[in-house]
Amino acid sequence: MIEECGVFGIIGTKDATALTALGLHALQHRGQEASGIASYDGKHFHNERFMGLVSDNFSDAATLNGLPGESAIGHTRYSTQGETVLRNVQPLYADLDRTGIAIAHNGNLTNSKTLRADLVRRGCIFQSTSDSEIFLQLTARSQYISVTDKLIEGLKQVEGAYALTVLTPEGLIGARDPVGIRPLILGDLDGAPILASETCALDIIGATFVRDINPGEVVICRADGTIESRQVFPKKEHARPCIFELIYFAKPDSVVDGQSVYELRKRLGEQLALEANCEADLVSPIPDSGVPAAIGFSQHTGLPYEMALIRSHFIGRTFIEPEQRIREAGVARKHSPNRSLIEGKRVVLIDDSIVRGTTSRKISQMLRKAGAKEVHMRIACPPIIHPDFYGINTPSHSELLAVNRSVEEMRELIGVDSLAFLSLDGLYKAFRKGKRDDAAPAFTDHCFTGDYPTKLTDHDAESRDAMITQLSFLAETS
Ligand code: AMP
Repeated sequence: MIEECGVFGIIGTKDATALTALGLHALQHRGQEASGIASYDGKHFHNERFMGLVSDNFSDAATLNGLPGESAIGHTRYSTQGETVLRNVQPLYADLDRTGIAIAHNGNLTNSKTLRADLVRRGCIFQSTSDSEIFLQLTARSQYISVTDKLIEGLKQVEGAYALTVLTPEGLIGARDPVGIRPLILGDLDGAPILASETCALDIIGATFVRDINPGEVVICRADGTIESRQVFPKKEHARPCIFELIYFAKPDSVVDGQSVYELRKRLGEQLALEANCEADLVSPIPDSGVPAAIGFSQHTGLPYEMALIRSHFIGRTFIEPEQRIREAGVARKHSPNRSLIEGKRVVLIDDSIVRGTTSRKISQMLRKAGAKEVHMRIACPPIIHPDFYGINTPSHSELLAVNRSVEEMRELIGVDSLAFLSLDGLYKAFRKGKRDDAAPAFTDHCFTGDYPTKLTDHDAESRDAMITQLSFLAETS
């Protein structure tokens, strides 16, 4: 199951649960489908999970008081494959021998199906279809005494992307995969250590940023404020964080690697203007994700920045609707054309990315119907031509608009007068990384390059099975 998520954790404060609820609220953009909080009161674990928004479920005193203790973790999530059931909502909890563990995971494993099949063959009973349960199962089977050691033994068996916050009687544990694909940061609130996906979760509670958790690092945060760090996997020269965090996923007011996400996205727009300027009367974002790049494009070109589309704030992300028909209706409900502004005008639309092309197709039709004279589209990243397996929920090859299509073919399909994408080198340049170093890229950028930074065990096994099925079919029919 593919998931996009935000994680949070805090230890050593009597307001652990309320602070976790606030942290999750700030991370709501990373997942709006369900959320949960687990706390530990020194003797017992408590866990509450709900479908729906954090603010709908974790604002009342009764719920928060039902989660006592000075340490807590939280999780907010999307899923995409119809498995929208409470048993998959995190944190996931398990009783261990004389102790327990609760876990919140952002990212996707690339060998979870293989591991799961093996564990089931050996008698494990899974309670959910979430690949995050693998961490619990592996931890529970470990022969180590301490929960931390058990967890680490499990980490050594998984492949793929993970940023974890884990609640144990030994402390609050944070872990980041050896490549550092998904983000995890360490913060501090008056001596209470915090773990979170993004800095916006620290800002909301007045906490300070301490540092990133390193790729392959496990930190054990204790109630007295001490932090033990274990570099479980060899320290890499460079982390390879997912480039899509900066392009789309992170909140614009977050700071990543010392740089404001908003500023970085504005630079994408400036670079786009350098590479693919356009004769037009105005530039407009596809709100909200295209806003910073459109501002950058406007400031660089001098074209007036206007709102050609008005976004309804009463509808969430349309991208994750499982059915294409519903996705299309969702786009129309989410954006409406600003008719009096665009009538007779040449409009340049800016968006952060094109995935299936649903948004761009609908919006270009909408603007033409509303009387735009010309509609041009500029995209603040290169064409996405490879699927993601690490938790950002871009679909398979067959659904990606840019696969096997030239820019001209895409232009025609979308129905715009011109279309241009930012180049890969332009993307790296805008993110202040110089030219892409092919031997050691600064980012995980597989969506554009096909350069996956981990093994893809499940995917390879599926391809092998599909090939064997096809070969045996050919043998039978020949
Ligand atoms: P599509 O309509 O399928 O081409 O998707 C592109 C739109 O979805 C753009 O407006 C993006 O801002 C947004 N988007 C891109 N990546 C993601 C993602 N991983 N999750 C949710 N929305 C996304």
